Amino acid sequence: MQQQLRQQSFNLTGCSLSELQIIAEQLGEKPYRARQIFRWLYQKKASSIDAMTDLSLAFRQKLSAGGYYVGALKILQEQLSAIDATRKYLFELADGNTIESVLLTEDARATLCFSTQAGCAMGCTFCATGQSGFVRNLNAGEMVGQALGVMRSTDQRLTNAVAMGQGEPLANYDETLKALRIFNAPDGFAIGARHLTLSTCGLVEGIRRLAEEPEQFGLAVSLHSAIDVKRAQLMPKAAKYNLAVLQAACKDYTNKTGRRITLEYTLIAGENDQEADLRALIQFCRGWLCHVNLIPLNPVAALKYDRSLPSRVMRFGQELEQAGIAMSIRKEKGADLDAACGQLRQRQVHRS
Ligand code: SAH
Ligand code: SF4
Repeated sequence: MQQQLRQQSFNLTGCSLSELQIIAEQLGEKPYRARQIFRWLYQKKASSIDAMTDLSLAFRQKLSAGGYYVGALKILQEQLSAIDATRKYLFELADGNTIESVLLTEDARATLCFSTQAGCAMGCTFCATGQSGFVRNLNAGEMVGQALGVMRSTDQRLTNAVAMGQGEPLANYDETLKALRIFNAPDGFAIGARHLTLSTCGLVEGIRRLAEEPEQFGLAVSLHSAIDVKRAQLMPKAAKYNLAVLQAACKDYTNKTGRRITLEYTLIAGENDQEADLRALIQFCRGWLCHVNLIPLNPVAALKYDRSLPSRVMRFGQELEQAGIAMSIRKEKGADLDAACGQLRQRQVHRS
């Protein structure tokens, strides 16, 4: 039995403070030792148990003998944009699967866009990740590991993080929240909750659950069309909740939390950028606390969509403003990289 236990290994990266307390206690140590480990893992970014020099040698040895270790994700590829400071990473997970993260830097802000799943089951028709299918959920250690990998490689502190990489975070709710709490913890990455955002294709149960959480994490909802039949074409699985049901959940969220929801609207030529689409969008947004982020499509090779003309983007922006709806137009980042999330990974998959 003891032999069997010894053979198991446990990655400490991704553990919460309370999990570390249990580990410390099981190894006969005082629970406050857990906070030291927590700081070593996330604040000081220790890459091994041996590096945790304010733990006694005996405790470090007990941790290693118990199979505990500090895991790190392997960087398979790092692309640096020649246009702006955007960096795109392809990470390899311990089981050989790959995921992507993007670091966006602008002035004093350094924002990590991290993945919550390998692949995605939602099948949105304009999304490279959605088209490549679902592989598996990531655990919190693999989400936190993306941040650690990026911070180690750039020697840069993160000021913001968004669960907006590959995958649907609300379909992997517990692990995503666990990771966000490590990002947020003062002894962790110490990023304010308002600088941590989760983006969902609109899973209503998850939105309702998130509204009950004590933290003030930001919420973005991918809308992409305010006309049910069109949304169902673009987002076949997400559209299981119709727009009325989605809007009701969003309104309840804003009423309960007092926080504004960002609605992401990727403009796709001829698909969702016509006058009827604009009128429906304005109608959908009227009278509640939302903000529309207009996103130029990142065209994905092998998918049939093109981005809208700049004149359409401008028209949407102006008309929303005129209607008194808060809006912004997302600036394109890292345009020279395999820009749309999922493409770097897809290229890798196709090459191998
Ligand atoms: N699954 C979540 C979060 C990951 S996708 C969600 O859908 O919200 C993050 C954002 O990128 C979403 O708004 C998604 O619609 C958008 N996106 C996906 N593919 C895109 C593409 N090719 N061009 C522009 N935005 C895209
Ligand atoms: Fe999944 Fe989001 Fe891509 Fe849709 S847009 S397939 S929900 S990652």
